[in-house]
Amino acid sequence: MDRRQFLALATALSAAVVSPGRAATGIRVVVAGAGIVGASIAYELAKAGAAVTVIDRAGPATRASRGTFAWINATWAKQPQHYHQLNQSSVMTWHSLEKELKIPITWGGSLEWFAGDERQKRLAEQIAEQVTWGEPAQMITADKVRELEPQLSFNADERAAYSPNDGAVDPVLATELMLKAAQSLGAVVVYPSELQNVSLDSGRLVAVQTSTGRIKVDRLVLATGAEEALPGRIAGIEIPQRTTPGIIAISEPLPPLLNTVVAAPGVHMHQRLDGRFVIGEQEGPPQNHGERLAGRPNDFPLPELAMEHGTRLLNAAQQYLPALDRAKIENVVVGWRPLPLDGHPVLGVNPDRPDVYLAIMHSGVSLAPLVGQLVSKEVVDAPVTAQLEPYRPTRTFARVTRY
Ligand SMILES: Cc1cc2nc3c(=O)[nH]c(=O)nc-3n(C[C@H](O)[C@H](O)[C@H](O)COP(=O)(O)OP(=O)(O)OC[C@H]3O[C@@H](n4cnc5c(N)ncnc54)[C@H](O)[C@@H]3O)c2cc1C
Repeated sequence: MDRRQFLALATALSAAVVSPGRAATGIRVVVAGAGIVGASIAYELAKAGAAVTVIDRAGPATRASRGTFAWINATWAKQPQHYHQLNQSSVMTWHSLEKELKIPITWGGSLEWFAGDERQKRLAEQIAEQVTWGEPAQMITADKVRELEPQLSFNADERAAYSPNDGAVDPVLATELMLKAAQSLGAVVVYPSELQNVSLDSGRLVAVQTSTGRIKVDRLVLATGAEEALPGRIAGIEIPQRTTPGIIAISEPLPPLLNTVVAAPGVHMHQRLDGRFVIGEQEGPPQNHGERLAGRPNDFPLPELAMEHGTRLLNAAQQYLPALDRAKIENVVVGWRPLPLDGHPVLGVNPDRPDVYLAIMHSGVSLAPLVGQLVSKEVVDAPVTAQLEPYRPTRTFARVTRY
């Protein structure tokens, strides 16, 4: 444990013993999980005047929010329309959060295309549908692609979907900035601290038990990502998930080469404002690694293996952006998607345990700012937000494969 972690722990332990002070709302909330979703909820709760304690088993942005591609979007894959709209609203909310917390975001839009005429035809149909849903997306010609991305190698008779509203963010930095802002409003952040259980009195939540002590609390928010067993154990409701892994390679900083998020056949890439390229792929690690992946590692067992995958991704990206021949891979991570079975977020409570709020989702980078605001309102004021009705944990989960 370094000095910063020690100080955070010491502050929180003293808070845990005397219980967190009551803020203007009089509500004491523990947010379990300091990924981008938990951080956004904690920030909005602190803004609303709640006394917030954030705990994390490992540390801020150490799981999916580190191993993510971090494309902020409301693309064709966000189906059906209510889910598309949720993402659209959140993309807009990112703009206000960007200004509020000075979060660096690349707002260059995105370019996406596929191999094969059939899939390209379907993409054009999906983009046409998006337009009817208010998304300013369009299919553009190779000439227009060249105007947007002069360095990109793009087939002259091909077309790409251009979504000008999209962006990309450094998810670790964004998480840290949200937590810092929450702390400046009185929130306490503790790690490593694992949520172990809850104490109830006549069905009401009175405390949470953690590896660093007992915290008296009125509400608990479970923003623990892909931890499948926790909702059942802590909130008394099973959330079926089908987490999938993805590999993300990050380069050393390069001069500006790319403006948009590029989703090309087999490989995705964007260049962050710090110059680093983030490269991902739609397919996860090859399935012959089943045994190694069973323990859901976030890092490769050997640095050489990590570099092997980094080089593989870099070579795939270089096919489309030859200037990447100068790139060097700095870091390669494995991310595990928090993925409810139907691909939609889980937002709300089990009516039998109304003080434990679940916030588990994919596309958590796109959704974090809006989810933070809506969840904070529901936790503090307990209104029913119509926008969140399709995402309640009590729904029936059908298996839908989109990622
Ligand atoms: C490869 C990949 C690519 C992706 N691409 C995109 C994309 O382009 N755009 C997009 O919008 N989304 C994308 N996603 C999804 C997005 O990254 C996630 O939805 C988001 O990061 C989830 O954030 P979170 O805070 O809910 O979860 P996490 O970041 O996983 O945070 C959960 C936290 O809970 C903590 N925790 C777990 N159990 C406990 C416990 N018992 N006690 C205390 N703490 C605990 C963990 O340590 C962790 O820090 C991608 C994900 C992956 C893996």
